[in-house]
Formats: sequence, C-alpha cells, structure tokens
Amino acid sequence: MGLFSKKKTKNVLDVEAVQEKLLRSDEEKVFYFSAVRSLLVFVKQFPLHLKEMDTEGFSKHIDSLMEELAGEKKVPQKESLYDKSKKKILDFIQRYKQYLEDREKEFKEIIGLLTTAMADIGADNQEYHEKIQEKTDRIEKLTDLDDIKIIKNSIKQEVSEIRTAVNEKQKKDTQQISLLSEKVSVLEEALKKAESKSLRDGLTGIYNRMAFDRKIKQMIDNQAVGNGAFSLLMIDIDDFKKINDQYGHPVGDRVILAVVRKFLSVFRTDDFSARYGGEEFAVILAATPLKTAMKKAKEVCKSLASTRYAVSSTGGQEIKVTVSIGVAQSAKGDTEGTVISRADKALYKAKNTGKNRMVSEKEI
Ligand code: GH3
Ligand code: MG
Ligand code: MG
Repeated sequence: MGLFSKKKTKNVLDVEAVQEKLLRSDEEKVFYFSAVRSLLVFVKQFPLHLKEMDTEGFSKHIDSLMEELAGEKKVPQKESLYDKSKKKILDFIQRYKQYLEDREKEFKEIIGLLTTAMADIGADNQEYHEKIQEKTDRIEKLTDLDDIKIIKNSIKQEVSEIRTAVNEKQKKDTQQISLLSEKVSVLEEALKKAESKSLRDGLTGIYNRMAFDRKIKQMIDNQAVGNGAFSLLMIDIDDFKKINDQYGHPVGDRVILAVVRKFLSVFRTDDFSARYGGEEFAVILAATPLKTAMKKAKEVCKSLASTRYAVSSTGGQEIKVTVSIGVAQSAKGDTEGTVISRADKALYKAKNTGKNRMVSEKEI
C-alpha cells in the first residue's frame, strides 16, 4: 500500500512534468515559428527590387514557404519543403551577390573609360592635358569609395567641366577651320591664276599652243553633239626672218606684238586667238562660215598691209609687215588634225602664191 501510494505520487509528478514540458515546447514552438517567420520576412525584404533578378518571384516563393510551414502538413513533409526552399534561397543569394559584383565591376570600367576618354580629348594640348589628368586621378580615387552618390555627383561635375572644355576646343577648332578655308581660297585663287597663266603666251598675252590644242578639241567635240561649224584661220607673218635679221630680235618681238594687236582688233572678243608657233597664229571663229571667215582674213591682211611700224620710238625707219592666212571650215567627221591640216595647206598656198593674202581651203 505504502509502495503503491509512493508510486502513485511519482506518476502524478511525471504527468505534471510532462504537461509542463508540453506547455513549454508549445511556447517554444510558437516562439521559433514566429522567429522563423520574421527571419523569412527579413530575407524577403533584403534585396532591392530588381526586375532582372526577379526579386518578385523570390518574394512570392518565401510567402508560399511561410504558408506551407504554417499549414497542417506533417513535419517530414515540411522538412522536405524547407530543404528545397533552402536551395532556392541560397541560389538566389549567390546570384544576387554575383549581380552586385558584376555591377560594381561594370561601374569601375565605365569610370576607367571616362578617365581615358578625358585624357584623350586633351592629348594635343599640354595645359588641357594636365587639367584633365588632375580630374581623372580624382575620379579614379573615387572608385575606391562605396558611395555611389558621391561618384555620381563627381562625374556630373566633371562632365560639365569637360563639356565646357570641349566647347572651348570646338570654338578654337572652328576658328582654325575658317582660317584654313581662307588660306585654301587664297591658294585656289593663286592656282586659278597660275593655271590661266599656263594657258597664256608670255610675249603677247593671247592663248598659247596648249590652250589652242584644248580649245580645238573641245570645238570638234561640240560639233559632234550638234553645235554649228567653226572656221579656223592660220596666220603667219611674211618674211619674218628678214625682219629679225635686219632689225634684231627685240624689234622682231615688238612686230609680233603689233601684229597680234592688229588682228585682235578685227575679231570679236569671244573669238579664240592663240600663238601657234614662233610667228604663226591660229584663230578659231565659233559658228562662222568660211565666207565670213575669209572676209575677216581679208580685213586683217588689208589693215596690216596699210600700216607702217616705226623701228624706234624716236621715229626714223619704218617697217611694213604683212601676213599670209589659210582659212578652213570645220566639217562633219572632222578631227582636230584634219581641219588644222586643211587650214595649213591653204596657208602654204598663200605663201606660195605671193604672200600677203588669204586662201580658202576651197582653193586647194
Ligand atoms: P615665211 O614668209 O615663209 O613665213 O618666212 P619666215 O621668214 O617668216 O619664216 P621662217 O619660218 O623661215 O622664220 C620664222 C622666224 O621667226 C624664225 C625665228 O627665229 C623667228 N622667231 C620665232 N619666234 C620668235 C620670237 O618670239 N621672237 C622673234 N623675234 N623671232 C622669232
Ligand atoms: Mg613666216
Ligand atoms: Mg612660220
């Protein structure tokens, strides 16, 4: 009996202890559950909202885990669920860390690019280069700081200063460009003058042989596309050698000039006169038939023959100068060579038939 009563007391105590334990374990369960819950909420709130990291998906996953853990499922089922979630959470944290590291790296690279770009802009100017170098050094140091805002504001300021520097440089460049284009137009003008000079005869100022060759080619081309015929006069001073021999070369030169002036007064300004050789000249009369050209040739011969030239400016001896002229008209199918050759032959005939005359290609 005594034993029984003793046992009974112990049993009663055991039940109380168990009840006490159960109560405590319930309390602990509530505490741990609420602690896990709030830790999960912290985990959920920790990452920034980033679309590319799918933080929303991550947060939904935590929500559903919390629901499952609070639900009626048995512990082994909850355990397996939690294990799966652990993997997912760990994976997200690692990806998130990697993402931040990548961004930091990119950010540093951008700053690096900016600094080299700034240094490059000023590469041709020592003072500017030093100024930029000072700034780039400062920016490079900033990459050690964690505060993105400081970096952002610094870059903002540097960019505005760079913009001002670039604007100044652009202004300078524009000035240089306009200076250069002025020089270019001066050179262009000089080139034009040199070019036109190269087409002129030094003694008489009329076109030279090179210009004549170009012009007659152009006239032949124009005729091939339907422009009218032109006439060609080949003019040669008669017995010029004698003039040279008798009065000397300088007088000969003056005679050449006088002859040119005389025949220029007969032709229109748009007729093309050139010195073909020493004392031989070629004149192209655009859109002029042979008959008209012959009239002009006659006028030249007559007016020269009726003029006397003083050998010296102080008077005294006088010279009579005459010319012989061969005249041809361009025809269909002509080349430069064929029309020149006909005019030459006519000139040759004029020489052979007494000089101081004009001969048309029709007479040969
Ligand atoms: P023709 O009536 O047959 O034409 O006889 P020509 O004496 O005029 O012809 P020729 O061809 O025998 O002589 C031409 C001369 O012209 C020879 C050359 O010394 C001279 N001459 C060529 N160019 C010049 C020049 O620029 N100045 C001077 N003074 N003489 C020149
Ligand atoms: Mg001659
Ligand atoms: Mg001659």
